[in-house]
Order: sequence, then structure tokens, then C-alpha cells
Amino acid sequence: MTFISKRVIVIGGGVAGLLASVTAASHGASVILLEKMNRVGLKMGITGKGRCNLTNAAPMMEFIKKTPGNGKFLFGAYKRFFHDELLSLLHDWGLSTKVERGGRIFPLSDDAQEVRHLFMRLLEKKGVELHLEEGATHIEIADGQVSGVRTLKNFYPADAVILCTGGQSYPRTGSTGDGYRLAAELGHTITPIRPALVPLVCEESYCKELQGLSLKNVTLSLSAGGKRKTQEFGEMLFTHFGVSGPIVLMQSDQVSLWLSEGYEVKGEIDLKPALSEDVLDKRILRDLKTYHLKQMGNALLDLLPHSLVPVVLRLAHISAEKPVAELTKKERISLGKVMKHLPLSIKKTRPIDEAIVTAGGVSVKEINPSTMESKLVKGLYFAGEVIDVHALTGGYNMQAAFSMGHLAAESATEGQE
Ligand SMILES: Cc1cc2nc3c(=O)[nH]c(=O)nc-3n(C[C@H](O)[C@H](O)[C@H](O)COP(=O)(O)OP(=O)(O)OC[C@H]3O[C@@H](n4cnc5c(N)ncnc54)[C@H](O)[C@@H]3O)c2cc1C
Repeated sequence: MTFISKRVIVIGGGVAGLLASVTAASHGASVILLEKMNRVGLKMGITGKGRCNLTNAAPMMEFIKKTPGNGKFLFGAYKRFFHDELLSLLHDWGLSTKVERGGRIFPLSDDAQEVRHLFMRLLEKKGVELHLEEGATHIEIADGQVSGVRTLKNFYPADAVILCTGGQSYPRTGSTGDGYRLAAELGHTITPIRPALVPLVCEESYCKELQGLSLKNVTLSLSAGGKRKTQEFGEMLFTHFGVSGPIVLMQSDQVSLWLSEGYEVKGEIDLKPALSEDVLDKRILRDLKTYHLKQMGNALLDLLPHSLVPVVLRLAHISAEKPVAELTKKERISLGKVMKHLPLSIKKTRPIDEAIVTAGGVSVKEINPSTMESKLVKGLYFAGEVIDVHALTGGYNMQAAFSMGHLAAESATEGQE
């Protein structure tokens, strides 16, 4: 009896597609990986500021919580292949990893390229047929079942197709949203695409004045229509257009949603969240006594970063030249208020090109979460950001893409071994 390998075509050699290709080949399938760029894993190579935050040590429920975009859809993939399974595979393949603050897991080398190169070697070792600079243009179906994939150069017959084309952010890495069109052509619903994990554009001109200033241990509160609220404590950054940094990105998904619903989004930064207004007032009073012979512009440097002092004074309507001794109680109270409630008005998010992840995509309602197979087309599987799933920062997005890629490949090759 001759043994016939299943022909599996993986579209997109990113995080999900690389693991899907290697997994399908390990299960004995004959795998073709189509990648439109001239290299695989371009986005993988810039993840985690070039250090690649592979996953997180958090328990599964925390992953689901940190995945505001359809987290529960991932239970099936996580039950089959979670961080322990991923790390054990990576370790077996020779990659050493380390756990950092917040449970974030990185390669020991701090080098995302090491992970990329590992997958490139694995593709070769497992006999995956890699076609670079060959983007999929159509997925062909016959009798409700995938029959192959068309590119501008060729037609490749297939028993199963795994669509892993990523989202629409950072298009220079190849994720230009092709997958949405490919899936829509086959009847799949694409939920509205919008940026998630993205810097925010603010109206206040002081942001530009403060560009480059990073604030640690502050609280950023944002609200829409006065009701809907989010709040995060940690680190943020001023830029020439507004704000960015961890606690901004964390809340940006919510802000992007509010803005898309037409709400006005307002915010405030508490520069001294550890101090109540009363305690802060006493602290200001103490500093003013210490610097009673100076002008206001030189009296707050123990409390605030240098570049923030003129901004806070201006917002409190106090001249930087005003002698400390002449400051009124009312002015002092107003100074404390500005430090506790530095105002921000959010105009919009930065464009999707600059978003870390894309919200929206192929509707999860049309994908079987236990197999990743399309409910509309037999033999068509999805994995990664092309699906309407997105998570917060911390390694959650890569783990989601790895888990879905692994599950899709296992399902696509079922009965093969
Ligand atoms: C700057 C940045 C930093 C990030 N850092 C982290 C991090 O540290 N940790 C984390 O968890 N997440 C991080 N993310 C998010 C993470 O990179 C993505 O969620 C993840 O790459 C999604 O994997 P994917 O395989 O779905 O898509 P991608 O990795 O984007 O791969 C999609 C692939 O499909 C290819 N493709 C597209 N269309 C076609 C076509 N028609 N034919 C053939 N190929 C096609 C693309 O060229 C690309 O290679 C980061 C994202 C960015 C932008």
C-alpha cells in the first residue's frame, strides 16, 4: 500500500504560519509555505523591541483576561497547546528562554532574530517547501472543500489550506490585510478592522513640548461620554503627537473602540498617585519653604521632572517668574490639582500602520475553536491575527498565534500519522 501525504498549503510565514508549517510537516504532511515577502518572520523579528516577548508565564485564565478581543475563542487552542508546550518545543529545538518582570518570557539571547533563524532552519529540516515572494491571490474551492491556492505564478493543489496572513498593522512586514479579502471571497464575515495597542493623538500642545519625557509610576485615567472609564498605573511617554508607552497602549484598544463609536474621549494623568491631594499639598508647602527665596520655576524640581515644571505652572496659571514667597494659597491648591489631574483630550489613535495589533478580522463565529477549521469551507483553517482575536502586550499575542497555528496544523493533518 502506498502512503500518500496530505498536501497542506500554509499562506503566510509569520508567527502562526511558521509553527503551523513545521507542525504539519512533523505530522507527515507535504507542506508548501507561501510567503509574499522576500523573507519569513519579518514581524517576528521586530517583536518585543527586537527581543521577542514569546509568551507569558501567567495561567490560562489570565491569558483570556488579557485578550479583550474574543479571548474565550482561544480556550480550544490553549487546551491543546499552551505556554508549557510551546516552551518545551522551543527548548527541545535549542532555544533557551528566561522569564522577566510581569511573567514575560524572552529568548535568553534577547534576540528576536534567533527565534526567526530557528524557524528558518526548522522549515528546511522538516522539508517544508518554501516559496518566497509568492503571495496567495485566491483560495480555490470545489464542492465546498478547498482544492488549492492560486498565486500570480502558479496553482498549487491542496487537501488543506491554513490561512495565516496576519492583520493589517506594520504593513511593511507583509501583513497588509490580504487574508481578509481571501477569506471574504469564500463567504467569511470580516468584522470591522481597527487599530489596537496604538499610541494616542492628543489635542494638548504641551505633549509636543514634553516629547521624549517618560513618566514612571503615574496613573492614566480615560473616559468616554463621562461614563465609560479605564485606568492604568505604570509608565507612559510623551511624543510629538500625544502619548504612548505601556499604560497608553494597554488602554488604547478601549479608546479605539470608543472613538469608533463616536464618543469624545477625555483623560487625566495623576502625576502623584501615591499621595492624596491633602498630602501632596503638605509636600508642596514643604518644598516651597525650602525654596522660599527662589522663583516658582525653580521651586518644584524635587517634585517634578524639569520639563514638566513650566507646563504644570502654566496649566495652574502661575508665572514661572513669580517669587515663591508671593504664591497664594489658592494658587498652591491649584498647583496640586494640576499635578493630580493633568488633562488630556484624545483626538484619535495613530493610524493602523503603527498599531502593534489589529482588532477585528475573520469572525470567530465562523471558525470551529476546537480545530480552527472554517465552518463554511471544508479543509480551510485559520490561525493568528487574521482572526478577530487580539490581546494586550505581555507575550499574549504571540502565544495566541503559536497556539492557533499549532492547533490548525494538527487538525489539518489529522489521520496523517
Ligand atoms: C512592533 C511590534 C512588536 C510586537 N511585539 C510583540 C511581542 O513582543 N509579543 C507578542 O506577543 N506580540 C507582539 N507583537 C504582535 C505579534 O507580532 C503579532 O500578533 C503576530 O506576529 C501575529 O502573528 P501572525 O502569524 O498572525 O501574523 P504575522 O506575524 O504578521 O505574519 C503574517 C505573514 O503573512 C504574510 N502574508 C500576508 N499576506 C500574504 C499573502 N497574500 N500570501 C502569502 N503571505 C502573506 C506576511 O508577509 C507575514 O509574513 C508585536 C507586533 C508589532 C507590530
